[in-house]
Amino acid sequence: MSDLAVPAGGCQHHHVPLLRILLVEDDDAISAPLSRGLRREGYDVITERDGPSGLRSGHDPQVSLVILDVGLPHLDGLEVCRRLRAARPRLQILLLTALAEEVHAVDGLDAGADDYIAKPFRLAELLARVRSAARRAEPSELAACGVRVGIASRRAFLHDRELALSPKEFDLLARLIADAGKVVTRERLLRDVWQTSWQGSTRTLDQHVSWLRSKLGDDLIVTVRGKGFRFRDHPE
Ligand code: CA
Repeated sequence: MSDLAVPAGGCQHHHVPLLRILLVEDDDAISAPLSRGLRREGYDVITERDGPSGLRSGHDPQVSLVILDVGLPHLDGLEVCRRLRAARPRLQILLLTALAEEVHAVDGLDAGADDYIAKPFRLAELLARVRSAARRAEPSELAACGVRVGIASRRAFLHDRELALSPKEFDLLARLIADAGKVVTRERLLRDVWQTSWQGSTRTLDQHVSWLRSKLGDDLIVTVRGKGFRFRDHPE
């Protein structure tokens, strides 16, 4: 077994999207326990305390979900929501509204929020809403069998070691991991990674698979004869 081999039992899970959440809340009495609760659930959490910083961090392509207080200093949450929605149509936005602002919640949905929750809320209820938003969110990261791929950052890791990949190797790896456990056909890979449908030689594809294997270890990308390739999602 080489040191690149995946330890037995190390990859039972199907690809698990890891989500980066931005929490924008100026009240520390809410922000502190909430970010602790979110981190306990396994989310990657960043926090901001005012509108302009929230807007700036909301443009981070690795952020998939924003929990946004409506009453924020310098730029109110509804305006932040409107501007983020215009820039990032698929971002999930969950608004936090004070009871007195309930009327604004409707404006919030008009401003492009996906959901809102009124303060005071129970942590368990908010976490349930976040889980549901997370299911709709685009993952910022894909993972299978000890390999993690950051979609926006275009960085890939085997366990904790960063992999040095060419752009096409990265695209190929991300495409395979997105369907971990399933066969991805040669035609599909040529179309999605090389934007080509050429029917002739697929030597380029085979060459890239071979380069990836030399970096990941031989056992993660399985050749399915006559069809294509499958990225492992569990030990075999
Ligand atoms: Ca506030």
